[in-house]
Amino acid sequence: MSRFWSQAAQRCEPYVPGEQLNQPGIIKLNTNENPYSPSPAVVEAIETEAANQLNLYPSPTVDQLRERIADANELTKENVFVGNGSDEVLAFSFMAFFDQGKAIRFPDISYSFYPVYARLFNIPFKSIPLRDDFTIPAEAFFQSDGGVIFPNPNAPTSVYLELEAIKNIANQNPDQVVIIDEAYIDFASGSAVSLIHDYENVLIIQTMSKSRSLAGLRVGYALGNAELISGLTRIKDSFNSYTLDRLAIAGAVEAINASDYYVNITAKIIATREWSFSEMRKRGFTVLPSQANFLFATHASFPAETLYVKLKEAGILIRYFNKPRIENYVRITIGTDKQMQQFFHALDKIL
Ligand code: PMP
Repeated sequence: MSRFWSQAAQRCEPYVPGEQLNQPGIIKLNTNENPYSPSPAVVEAIETEAANQLNLYPSPTVDQLRERIADANELTKENVFVGNGSDEVLAFSFMAFFDQGKAIRFPDISYSFYPVYARLFNIPFKSIPLRDDFTIPAEAFFQSDGGVIFPNPNAPTSVYLELEAIKNIANQNPDQVVIIDEAYIDFASGSAVSLIHDYENVLIIQTMSKSRSLAGLRVGYALGNAELISGLTRIKDSFNSYTLDRLAIAGAVEAINASDYYVNITAKIIATREWSFSEMRKRGFTVLPSQANFLFATHASFPAETLYVKLKEAGILIRYFNKPRIENYVRITIGTDKQMQQFFHALDKIL
């Protein structure tokens, strides 16, 4: 601690991102990135923009991208807010919709950025225990004081919550904002985005980092009614009126246009996930039912940390957890078929 730090700086417990060892030959199954390259059309759009327009400021209102995202979701651009990755959109959402005096709720096993932001912005929170089967208990989110946020599918558990349960949570929080963080939704059975027509309190946050294969570009967005979106815009314009740079805008517009490409790689990842799920079970792992691009698993005879260390020695990065209840769990991002074969080959030498 420094005596020069503000209370906010002192309160921070910074998020520690997963290891980013990008040495050649390393198989990275630890941060839920997409193993496939982005669409060549996206790369071309970025190159063209870089060659022609970098001397000019980007659009502060990012209209072109917001319109494309709106079209793809049968909305208008007034329903769309964009930011530098969904992490930034989440930070703006905490500032726009959650208050210092009222406790928000999120699951106890969930995306670890939520408590980080809650502490930073001085928002009290109640973490709600997941059920024994790791599903989200919808009733425990009814009548919150300050609002609700959870990922769907949840991270790091990969478990999906059905639309009916989300509707109940929204109905039971009529005066609070209910944020659904849909970072992994394209690997799941369905988005809650249609709810924003009927529920003025529902905000959906999505990202181009996972199914669109653009984690390096940093593009995320929120979908909600115009009133919620204008709250986010007020926050953004008080920080950084330009938000997205020209390369990110050009690439993201093309990523929406290239939807066939991403539908195809998403289907491949889902097929690899289903195959990997049964391969894990064959090896004695308990694996939660996944609707994301990762598996969350535990093995009765092999500590998660040992698996992590030994796989790392073999050049394969995964995540393990040391929080109560999940201290023996590993999270494995789904790679290509070839990467997963190498993973199982390495695993067989350890088990
Ligand atoms: N929400 C969840 C649940 C995530 O797992 C992640 C990725 N770590 C994010 C949001 C943030 O993704 P990005 O900032 O790359 O859009």
